[in-house]
Amino acid sequence: MGKPTGDRASKNDAPKSVDRRKFLAQGAAAGVGAVAIAGTGARDASAQANGSIRWDFTADVVVIGAGVAGLPAAIAARDNGASVIIVDENFDIGGRGMLSGGRVQIGGGHALQQKLNIKDTAEQIFLDWVRYDHGESRFSDRDLIRVFADENVATYDFLIENGVEFIEKPIRSPDASTVDRIFVTKEWHIPSEIIAPRRNRNGSGLVRRLEQSARKKGAQIFLRHKMTSIVREKHNAGRVLGITTINGSNVVNIRATKGIIIATGGHTGNINFRRMFDPRLTEEYQQACEPYVHQGADGELAAMDIGASLWATANQTIDVAAAITKTRHIGCRWGYSSLVYEPDSPMFRLARATGLTVRDWQDMIFVNQNGQRFWNEVDGSHKFFAAAMGYNGDKVKLNGGGPIWAIFDAEAVKREKWNPQPPHVDPDGYFYSADTLAELAGKIKNPHQKQPISGATLQDSVNRYNSFVTAGADADFKKPTPLHKIETPPFYAAWATPILHDTMTGLRTNTDSEVIDIRGEVIPGLYSAGESQGGFAQHGLTRCIVFGRLAGRHAARRKVAETSGTRL
Ligand SMILES: Cc1cc2nc3c(=O)[nH]c(=O)nc-3n(C[C@H](O)[C@H](O)[C@H](O)COP(=O)(O)OP(=O)(O)OC[C@H]3O[C@@H](n4cnc5c(N)ncnc54)[C@H](O)[C@@H]3O)c2cc1C
Repeated sequence: MGKPTGDRASKNDAPKSVDRRKFLAQGAAAGVGAVAIAGTGARDASAQANGSIRWDFTADVVVIGAGVAGLPAAIAARDNGASVIIVDENFDIGGRGMLSGGRVQIGGGHALQQKLNIKDTAEQIFLDWVRYDHGESRFSDRDLIRVFADENVATYDFLIENGVEFIEKPIRSPDASTVDRIFVTKEWHIPSEIIAPRRNRNGSGLVRRLEQSARKKGAQIFLRHKMTSIVREKHNAGRVLGITTINGSNVVNIRATKGIIIATGGHTGNINFRRMFDPRLTEEYQQACEPYVHQGADGELAAMDIGASLWATANQTIDVAAAITKTRHIGCRWGYSSLVYEPDSPMFRLARATGLTVRDWQDMIFVNQNGQRFWNEVDGSHKFFAAAMGYNGDKVKLNGGGPIWAIFDAEAVKREKWNPQPPHVDPDGYFYSADTLAELAGKIKNPHQKQPISGATLQDSVNRYNSFVTAGADADFKKPTPLHKIETPPFYAAWATPILHDTMTGLRTNTDSEVIDIRGEVIPGLYSAGESQGGFAQHGLTRCIVFGRLAGRHAARRKVAETSGTRL
């Protein structure tokens, strides 16, 4: 995780230095706890019922993750009278929402739609998102969609009330929606607080406004506190009591008297977890939005440790949405299509390069880890991803397709108007150049490139492609009229491996966002929202905001008997 930037660090509500003795004193002052627990990690959760945990802090509602689901959850809980602590492992708030385009798919006939004369209803949202003829809606949990649809207008009003501003022009929804419902939030006005400034990261305006409102309403935000386990009365029974976090080298236990809301943002960055749904997704596939946010499945794992179930898992592999994407920024490790960390971003030190923005896929060929072409480069469909991840002869690593390299020449650089030097490219494993193709092949070294590429194979691939340009037809993969030969040195190889994006499945919840266990019972006091919640495959922000808000409200209104933990 990166270092804080100047004044952002001072917005941490946690004590500046997490001093163990200070925490113990605070815990004692709160009248809770007896003996400090030893050790950390998920197993702590199972040692919980013996009353041995010292709580360092207490709040009615504890939210894990200060991102797109977590911030509305915190605000809604405060609006309903609960005290709230939000923890986030990062040095700043916002999660992936901070780096998002801020395109919120929200409708149902809210005030802005009315102003723009867009006809929409909650019923139409429901009907769109239970469509059987569209991959993104086919596997929806229809009970969740019903509530989602019914809560759209109230959620729009909630955003406006909490300071979020929208550009008053809709964007057509590219998915199951039949009505214009995408409205873009205005970018945050302070560039140094945007993380990836000057790149239309309009989502910064969503999360910064919500942060502002949450703080104003009294929610406390503890940054650099990584949740490692959820504490439940008994390992697989009873209500949840609190969470264990790690802050630096300190264990900090936070008690929740009413509810705990998991809003940790999904699992895409957890190789072991994501391979439950798709075994092809081995380690060479990077996660969009890193290094700012890691989607590590921490919420799902902590909840599953105390009995939670996953839900609607078919959504993860529907082969139509953005679980995996083609990068448009090549020659760097995290080259997601719209996200660029410029050199003045606090993340640049870790990201190391901006990448070269591709304007025309005709300017290159893609080769796999053996130096062979495998598909039509212009295609960005799931057929392309299937080919990129296809088995290509590796005798040791049978899953995953290995790295994909874009190969091009000096003329392509001119056409694209690239400057193929740092800070645009990362020569430490993700970008290479040489005067001959054989030399280029020999230079390619990357942790995921297990075998050297044969110079002869790469030369053959380029020769064959050049012959297709002469013939005006791609006899192998039907690229529409291949236009440019690759023949003018220097030659280049740039990392162009597909990158992972959306988490489309997660924890099972009911329509109040309460987490359900593997036997179908509510885990009392535990909630989930955002990409850590399963249910349906709508891309991004809106489902996170809607269910975050519902979770916060429901948790705050819970009535809990202090002694037994029974829900009244
Ligand atoms: C480049 C990019 C562009 C996007 N553009 C759009 C768009 O225009 N429209 C759209 O609808 N969607 C968009 N999305 C998707 C959208 O940003 C996400 O769907 C949304 O942010 C998910 O919200 P969340 O609350 O589930 O997770 P996040 O917003 O990522 O928040 C999760 C938070 O949990 C924290 N966390 C994780 N683990 C722990 C732990 N163990 N302890 C403590 N804290 C933890 C993280 O640090 C993070 O702050 C985009 C995503 C990316 C990457």
